[in-house]
Amino acid sequence: MFGLLKGMAVTIRQLPKKKVTLMYPEQEISYPERFRGVHRFIPELCTVCNQCARICPTDCISLSGSRDEKRKLRIETYDINYDICILCNLCTEVCPTEAILMSDKFELASYNRDDFYLDMHWLYHNELEYERLHPDRAIPQTENQKEYERKRSEKPASEA
Ligand code: SF4
Ligand code: SF4
Repeated sequence: MFGLLKGMAVTIRQLPKKKVTLMYPEQEISYPERFRGVHRFIPELCTVCNQCARICPTDCISLSGSRDEKRKLRIETYDINYDICILCNLCTEVCPTEAILMSDKFELASYNRDDFYLDMHWLYHNELEYERLHPDRAIPQTENQKEYERKRSEKPASEA
């Protein structure tokens, strides 16, 4: 009996307090900046260095590129298989140009496994969506591009 009263006292004490639970998914949750959701990708920044694919522990990134008329490597295809991606963040850590980044999107549930293969266009669209939702966090793509071009122009000709 004493135990029951003790339990009731704890419950009653909590009643007037502010609730910490939310009515998800009706109520949107704001995730912190370092949340590791599915990726966003900026094709213009990718140098096709392959470092992200090489470090990936589950081998879920596949990419291809080619040289343009100025002999610069340009990305052509960039796919991530979210069936096996563990959102470990290693690919974004090694990317020298921040072409691949994490977002706060994570709702990819589907009955079709093919839906978990996301290509460059989906990932780029996710970048634009992230910029729209978090103008205070994301570096606008144009700024990214400017920074990237600045870094490229600073490099000695032998490295460019
Ligand atoms: S988050 Fe990890 S598992 Fe997913 S693509 Fe990047 S390196 Fe691979
Ligand atoms: S996303 Fe980054 S690490 Fe991956 S190939 Fe492009 S530049 Fe290299």
